[in-house]
Amino acid sequence: MKNYGKFGGQYVPKELKIRLDEIANAFNEAKKDKNFVNEYLNYLNQYVGRPTPLYYAKRLTEYAKGAKIYLKREDLNHTGAHKINNALGQILLAKRMGKKHIIAETGAGQHGVATATVCALFNIKCTIFMGDVDIKRQNVNVEKMKLLGATVKSVDGTLKEAVDEAFSYLQENPDAFYLIGSAVGPYPYPEIVKYFQSVIGKEARKQILKLEKKLPKALVACVGGGSNSIGLFSNFIKDKDIDIYGVEAAGLGIETGYHASAISTNKIGIMHGMKTYLMLDEKDNIKEAYSISAGLDYPGVGPEHAFLNFNGRVKYSSITDKEAVEAFKLVTNMEGIIPALESSHAIAYALKIARNYSKEDSIIVNLSGRGDKDLENIFDYIKNNMD
Ligand SMILES: *Cc1c(COP(=O)(O)O)cnc(C)c1O
Repeated sequence: MKNYGKFGGQYVPKELKIRLDEIANAFNEAKKDKNFVNEYLNYLNQYVGRPTPLYYAKRLTEYAKGAKIYLKREDLNHTGAHKINNALGQILLAKRMGKKHIIAETGAGQHGVATATVCALFNIKCTIFMGDVDIKRQNVNVEKMKLLGATVKSVDGTLKEAVDEAFSYLQENPDAFYLIGSAVGPYPYPEIVKYFQSVIGKEARKQILKLEKKLPKALVACVGGGSNSIGLFSNFIKDKDIDIYGVEAAGLGIETGYHASAISTNKIGIMHGMKTYLMLDEKDNIKEAYSISAGLDYPGVGPEHAFLNFNGRVKYSSITDKEAVEAFKLVTNMEGIIPALESSHAIAYALKIARNYSKEDSIIVNLSGRGDKDLENIFDYIKNNMD
């Protein structure tokens, strides 16, 4: 699918379109090739550690006084989040295309680390584009990428500029494969990322049917670019009576302007080769996003989410830094699971809506990653917000 209603598309120069078409053709063939799919599934099993559990969070459920809360444990994947599912799939595609050089963008460094990891695994040259501002903020991940053998290239700016740089490099270099980190960008990227993340929803569906003998009443996932969420949602979208909730980051509050809730702005524009909801200022320039969780501060959203908002199939809302940190503490204390701050947004929202459903029903929340990477951030936040 090239377009999602009026969203999506391929807003790129001709020279880049040639590369994208090549990738789209290779992807559409690879999907039909049993050997390719089996190789991907094998690595998910042997290297990533899938399937991940669908865990019944009993104490959180008692606390929320509503439907049973199940956590899909993407935090238990190798490297600690869902990003590896996609990195692995795309590098197998790149290998199949005979590409000798992987490039990727990274903001907080999580996707950079996932990409550097699979490049080490397959012994492929790896270059990560990263904003100079982020390189200063995310030193541990920069060192991790280097340790894994990647070259980190500094770009003036932050995540947005790093993505722009990766696309221009792809345009100029036929040997390179751009391994994008979320369900964003021009066709075919949103489709590719959805495909490789949809393993989350496929497993979750099987698991909940086994555990509960019926489908859940609701799904909840956090939305940065939208990959962990579309990965969970895609296998349930046709089940019209399941409520689906996407949760963006409200940062300090939507009204303050310091947030990362692109959908909530209801402004549409073009960025990174796609038409979608964007955070724009009065002059329609793209604003920088803000959230306590680095993985959610992208000033746009994947085009399929834009469409699912537009047609009303998925309900999007947002959770503030404060609410996310509170949920983070609850999950840590009540379940002995330290969730990523991104995932804490989804959990905070699930705790709000659980009461709308009966105790016989269930809700699946995607626990997209583990929180070890966020600890310093959280300690700072708690210190600065004591009163
Ligand atoms: C990157 C990241 C996200 C946000 O990215 P999506 O593409 O929206 O999934 C969410 N959770 C974790 C743990 C991440 O690392």
